[in-house]
Amino acid sequence: MKARRKRDEPNVCFIIIPPTDKVKRLTIPLRLIKVALLFIATIGLGIILIFGSILVANRNLKDQYKLKVAEVESLIEENKNKNIEIHQLKQQNSEFYEKSAEIQDKLMELENIKRQLEKMAGINTSSRGSSLTNRASSISTKNFDSVQELEETLDYQVEELKNFTEKIEKRLEYLKTIPDYWPAVGRLTSTFGNRKDPITRKMAFHYGIDIANWPGTNIYSAGKGKVEFAGYRQGYGKLIIIDHQNGYKSLYAHNSKLLVQVGDTVDKGQTIAKMGSTGRSTGSHLHFEIHYRGTPIDPLTILNKQ
Ligand SMILES: [Zn+2]
Repeated sequence: MKARRKRDEPNVCFIIIPPTDKVKRLTIPLRLIKVALLFIATIGLGIILIFGSILVANRNLKDQYKLKVAEVESLIEENKNKNIEIHQLKQQNSEFYEKSAEIQDKLMELENIKRQLEKMAGINTSSRGSSLTNRASSISTKNFDSVQELEETLDYQVEELKNFTEKIEKRLEYLKTIPDYWPAVGRLTSTFGNRKDPITRKMAFHYGIDIANWPGTNIYSAGKGKVEFAGYRQGYGKLIIIDHQNGYKSLYAHNSKLLVQVGDTVDKGQTIAKMGSTGRSTGSHLHFEIHYRGTPIDPLTILNKQ
């Protein structure tokens, strides 16, 4: 049964004729060849499929590569721009520091000018002096770290200057009321203190100074104030009293003519009367007194040094 089956199967017979040896015969069953062919076809198809997929993958990789290259190129470009930006920022930063140093110098200069003006105007800064000095020294030693800090410092300075200006204005307004302006041009013929009375020839206290000149010479208000009295008074003759509303009052006696009235506000240096010899007087002169809180004081301690 087995032998018969073998005989029925178709075979393929290969005859090999080598040049030297004798002829060889090779019989292979057709089924085996079919199987072999099928196997080869399967392998071939597999190879084709593998190559195909490799080709597709290769193409994808190439595409991806191109994309990545483009990405890298744009990153390089971006990096370049960033570098330019950084360079510009560095430059701006150094410019900022340069400018802020200049501003610091100016602020210090301003502080010095302020201190000089305060000294000139006689403003007492001891109450805020320490903080001002601290602020000034912090300005001189510290760099501004930011525009915000610079702005804050400048705002502070503007506020300080406003306060300072107000103080100066108040001080100047106050100084206008100090009776230190010479009330007349002329010869100083008598000073404050004990002296021999020109009429009685006895020692008596003289509560003011005498300035002698021609009748009609201008009499000026020694400081800004309000006219408290303008009229005739025994001994003083035609008299003007000015209240400077700061504790000081000034008194102008023996005038020939009065040019202001009670209640008038007068400025420092304003002509208020004409020199004369009215009242208890021996000749044309101004008798000038200054009272501080009700007490006569030596006018020469208040009047500007001539
Ligand atoms: Zn006098």
